[in-house]
Amino acid sequence: MDTIKIKDKEFKIFIPEEEILKQVKRVGEEISKDLSDSNPLFISVLNGAFMFTSDLIKHISIPCEISFVKLATYVGTESSGAMKQLLGLNEDIKGRTIVIVEDIVDTGYTMQNLLKTLYALSPKEIHIATLLVKPDKLKVDLKLDYVAMSIPNDFIVGYGLDYDGQGRNYRDIYTVVNQ
Ligand code: IMP
Ligand code: MG
Repeated sequence: MDTIKIKDKEFKIFIPEEEILKQVKRVGEEISKDLSDSNPLFISVLNGAFMFTSDLIKHISIPCEISFVKLATYVGTESSGAMKQLLGLNEDIKGRTIVIVEDIVDTGYTMQNLLKTLYALSPKEIHIATLLVKPDKLKVDLKLDYVAMSIPNDFIVGYGLDYDGQGRNYRDIYTVVNQ
C-alpha cells in the first residue's frame, strides 16, 4: 500500500518496514553493548511505543526487565499544562538503570515530564530510546541516548503511531500528504 486514507487525511509511504527494522536492530544492539551488567528496566510508554518495544526487545541480548506505563492527563486540575500522571509502574526503580522506550519525541515536553517523575523515584540512571525524533520541533534540552530515526516536522502514522486513534496497525510509517 503506497497511500492510505485515515478520516480526513491522506498519507503516503515514508519509511518502509525493512528500514525501520534495520534501525531498531541497530539501537537494540547498541543498548545491549552499552548497558550489559546493569540489568536495565525498560519502561515502554503506551500506546504509541508498543510495536517499537516489541521489535526492540528482540535485539536486547543482556539480562533485562520490561514494564509498560501510560501517561494520563490529570482530570480536574486548574491548568491544561503538560504534567501527566504516570500509570502502571509497579516496579521499585530505586537504584536501577532505566531505559524509557518512546515512539516519538516532538516538542520533548512529554519526555521532560516523565524524566522528572521518574527521577523523583531515585533510579541510578535513565536513558531514553526513541523510535523517532523531529529535531526541528524540540523545545527543551533533552539528551536522547538512542534514536532510531530523525524525521522532518510532518505528521506521521503507522508502526504504533496514530492519527486520532487510527493507523497504529500499519507496519510501515506514512507521512501526511499536504492537502
Ligand atoms: P511531545 O511531548 O511534543 O514530545 O509529544 C510527543 C507525543 O506526541 C508522542 O508520544 C506522540 O504520542 C505524539 N506525536 C507527536 N508527533 C506525532 C506524529 O507525527 N504522529 C503521531 N503522534 C505524534
Ligand atoms: Mg508517545
